[in-house]
Parts: sequence; C-alpha cells; structure tokens
Amino acid sequence: MSPHIRQNIAYGALYTLDLAKSNFAVSVESIPIAIKDNICTKSMPTTCSSKMLQDFTSPFDATVVELLNKAGHTLVGKANCDEFGMGSLNIHSVHGPVLNPHSKDQRRSAGGSSGGSAAAVKSEMCLAALGTDTGGSVRLPASYCGVVGLKPSYGIISRWGVVSYADSLDCVGVLGKDVNYVERIFKTIALYDHRDPSAASPKVRKQAATECANLLARCTTASNLSGLRVGIPQEYFPSELSSAVVEPLRHTITALTERGASVVSVSLPSTPYALSAYYVIASAEASSNLARYDGIQYGLRVDPPKTADTKKTANVYAHSRTEGFGPEVQKRILLGTYALTADAFDNYFLQAQRVRSLVRADFDRVFRARNVLVADSESKDDDASAVDVLLHPSAIQTAPRLDEARAPGDLSAYVQDVLTVPASLAGLPAMSVPVQPAEDSWPVGVTVVGQWGCDDAVLQVGKIIE
Ligand code: GLN
Repeated sequence: MSPHIRQNIAYGALYTLDLAKSNFAVSVESIPIAIKDNICTKSMPTTCSSKMLQDFTSPFDATVVELLNKAGHTLVGKANCDEFGMGSLNIHSVHGPVLNPHSKDQRRSAGGSSGGSAAAVKSEMCLAALGTDTGGSVRLPASYCGVVGLKPSYGIISRWGVVSYADSLDCVGVLGKDVNYVERIFKTIALYDHRDPSAASPKVRKQAATECANLLARCTTASNLSGLRVGIPQEYFPSELSSAVVEPLRHTITALTERGASVVSVSLPSTPYALSAYYVIASAEASSNLARYDGIQYGLRVDPPKTADTKKTANVYAHSRTEGFGPEVQKRILLGTYALTADAFDNYFLQAQRVRSLVRADFDRVFRARNVLVADSESKDDDASAVDVLLHPSAIQTAPRLDEARAPGDLSAYVQDVLTVPASLAGLPAMSVPVQPAEDSWPVGVTVVGQWGCDDAVLQVGKIIE
C-alpha cells in the first residue's frame, strides 16, 4: 500500500479498500470510483455503517454497480457514511467519523451522510464516488469538502440494490473532482431499470429530454448566456446563513451576469416549512423500512439472556434492535413510528405531505420548463419572470468543527439541511459546485437546481460556474 493511500484511510473515508485497485492508473475509459456503503456490492461488504449489518455481504450488485462494472470503471472501495444515511455530519457511523481532508489543522466534518464518498474524492483516493441523497447527503458533503455533488431527479437512477432509508426521497447521487467526471458517471448509470418500481418511465424521460433540450438551446455557448434566466430564491438566505458563503455566491452571480445571463430574485414561500416536513416524512418512512432488521429475518441477532421470560421472539427483536442500531437511528424510528400513529397521523404526517405539495408547487410556479410529471403543467415561454435554473448557497456555513461540544437536544446538525431538503421533497435535480471561497476560508458550494428531468441543464450550468 502506498503511503499516500494510508494517509487517506486516516480520514475515515473508506472503511474497506480493494488494495489491488487502490494504486489506480487513470485511463480515459476507467474511472476509479468509491461506493457509499448503503449500495450493495457482492465483492465487498455492505454495512450501512451500522452494527446491525456489520457482517453483511450482498449476494448481488446494485444496478448502479452493475452498470459501472459493465462500463469498465474501477471500484476502489466502500465509503463510510452516517448509519443508514441518517445524519448531516458523518459522525453516526460504526466505522467512526469522517474527517474533512481539506486541512489537517482543524478537525472538521466532511458532511453527511455521504461524507466518506466526498472525502475519498477530495483526498484523491478516487476521481468519483457514488453517494445517496435523501435530503442533502450528497450536496452537503460536496459543499463542505470542495467537490462536485449531483443529486439527480428522483427516479432517474435505479435504486435497485440500494438500502432504503426513505423511499419517496432516496436518490443515488454522484460526487466527483469536477463536473465532467460527475457527468460521465451520471450518463453511465441514469438508465431505466424495470426492477426499480419508482423508476421514471421511458416515456417521461423522453418528454423531459425535450424540455431540457429546449432549455439548453437557449444557452448553448458558455461565453454568451443571454438566453439563460437564473432565479435566486429569496427564502434561501435565512438568519443562520454565514457571511463566508454569501460572498462567493455573489461572485458567481456577477460572473453569470457578465456573460449575459439574466439573474432575477424569485420567491418560494413554502421553503421555511420544508425542513420540518422533511424530517417527519423521512422518519416515518425510515421507521417502516427499518422494521425488517429484527435479528430474525435480517441483521444482527442478539439473543436475550437465558433468564429472560417466555416471550422469546419479542425479546430477540428488542435485544437485536437495541444493540444493532445506534442512537440516531433509534431516535428516527421512534419519531417516525409516532408520526404514523393514529393520534399523530393527521397533525404530523398528513400536514408534512401537504407542505410537500406546496413546496413542489412553488418550484413549478417559477420554472419556465414544464414539469412532465404533472398532468396539466405547461411551459411558461411567454412569462418573462419564469426562470431556467435556480442558484443558492449549498449550505448555511462551511464545514462545522468535529470537536465542537454539542449539548443534548442541540438541533444545529439538522439545520444544516435547511437549503437542501426543498429540492428533495420536490424530487428535483440539484448539484453543488465548489466556488472560490474567500482567502483562507474552507470550501464553499453553490447549488444549481433545475426542473424535474433537466439534469443535463443543471450539469451544463454547473460547468459554467465551476
Ligand atoms: N441529513 C438528512 C437526514 O439525516 C439527510 C440525509 C440524507 O440525505 N441521506 O435525514
């Protein structure tokens, strides 16, 4: 093993490494890729960074892994993450936290939950990595580590073989050194898969491709963007926003305007309610998905002590889950189970679903391209205020310190997701691109969001601003 690789493992980025492939030679065809540990691989374990699955190796590859192998890419290892994808700082992992490789002088978070994927790219263990993004888990680590992170439109990349956290939100995402690598991997894996029941049908893919082609035709040259309309959502500047992330965004806006793009302020009024709605929906779905890990059908089995009472099955279940799941996962299961009880369902789960519809409608109101998933949606070519993409800070701050004391009940980790969850609730493509931070500052990301299915447009605008 080269000293270079040993140093990178120290970031906690990859918990298993295929040594034969780790000293990669970069070729045009084959990109070295790390795979988040909640994506099934038959050649390496899939633990979801949980004690519950510490001994699990999948008998099959996820569709995305199959496609990468088929295209000749090299899988270098499995990337650390927050347990079952739950977290924003990659501190909830049986493999330990992930350190942000940007600088060793301070112990800062690589972001979560795909922190290992972002750190592996940043520290050059690979040139691209797969992550998953349910509420920001690709974009937040990308922003904190200074790499590119794409959460595609929901349903565009197969989830078959990806361990479910919250099915209605989960997306496989791509992280990379630059937009070109992300685009190459995205194109390799963004294919219809009949094994994924939530996959977008070939018909809507085709319709979205037409919308996207119209959009791209308006801004074909990077030097003349006179046809491109960029919206800055005014609700994405909450009081928690650090000044370190605002200045780089301003530079990006100026650069776009200088090339002819028109940049306008838009309003997405339901944004302030998105974070609470997200945590209700994600926890509710998680409580149902994670019920399968009971020590009997799946996962770590912990038998009760011999003296325990007669209800043996219930005890195996309780003992296995108490020992197998970490505290954050247990918290989400309890919250989610509560939100689905008859008493709380109307006030929490249904309300959250209503907020989700409002968030979706907000986006549809501002985008010029139509949403092909909505029956009566129309393109707004004549509406001078409609925009092609949105631009906003990826995160409210640069990478948080890992050694910061967090009091019990501190909600700051959840607030990190406030700018990423709206696109997740609406299923829209969103990509964080690193932009030039102020001198000596930690990396800062700017996010481009597009209409559903306009992933190519998001990638093109990303290339312009990177
Ligand atoms: N931080 C969010 C959560 O914990 C998002 C995680 C994700 O996107 N997987 O749910």
